[in-house]
Amino acid sequence: MSISEQYQSVAQEVARVCESCGRDPNEVVLVAVSKTVGPDGVAQAFEAGARTFGENRPEQIMEKQPLFPEASWHFIGNIQSRRIKDIVAHASLIHSVYEPRHLMRIENVAAERDKIQDILIEVNVSGEESKGGVPPEGVLDLLRATEELAHVRVRGLMTMAPQGDLVIAQETFKDLRTLAESLRKAWQSPQAGLLSELSMGMSEDWRQAIAEGATIVRIGRAIFSDQFIE
Ligand SMILES: *Cc1c(COP(=O)(O)O)cnc(C)c1O
Repeated sequence: MSISEQYQSVAQEVARVCESCGRDPNEVVLVAVSKTVGPDGVAQAFEAGARTFGENRPEQIMEKQPLFPEASWHFIGNIQSRRIKDIVAHASLIHSVYEPRHLMRIENVAAERDKIQDILIEVNVSGEESKGGVPPEGVLDLLRATEELAHVRVRGLMTMAPQGDLVIAQETFKDLRTLAESLRKAWQSPQAGLLSELSMGMSEDWRQAIAEGATIVRIGRAIFSDQFIE
């Protein structure tokens, strides 16, 4: 199948899985993670209807976002302080924030650009050492650290599940949803009402994520690779 066909097939299946879970497909944003393809690959997905793309490297989002300005571009990768300027210049949403010093830097750069930068807090739900993210018990402190930041708006949480076991993946997603529910109550701030997004689920486990309430799924290989077999 071509990238266009794969995108359409994934998008239709996302809608179908939403309906089978009793969810409105309009509640779930499909982020086409285009990190393995160039602008031509992006163009094929765009033609098939993709309007939100995800990149994990600053150089990639810098190159592609200006070529497809009608699309929204999300940054989903590891953040380095010195690249925050480039990320803020091109990303409508940053999924992967978990260090206080990065929050401060995003605030300063966004203020310079007169932008309010939407972000998600990346949470290491599973506790795997190889994974980025703040442990669940550290999220409330990070949220409090954003209260004084006028140019940073936390829209929700993001996680990556351990690979290879869909039951464990689903438990991880459920834990993220439960954490978000408790934080909306525990965070005594008017901004707690904005914590509505749950970015969870990738090519192998997005169905489990939608069943547990994902509002954003990040799908790469199932759209852009001709090698992806479930
Ligand atoms: C690459 C990547 C994805 C997409 O993964 P696939 O398995 O290719 O769907 C999602 N989220 C993050 C953070 C990624 O780096």
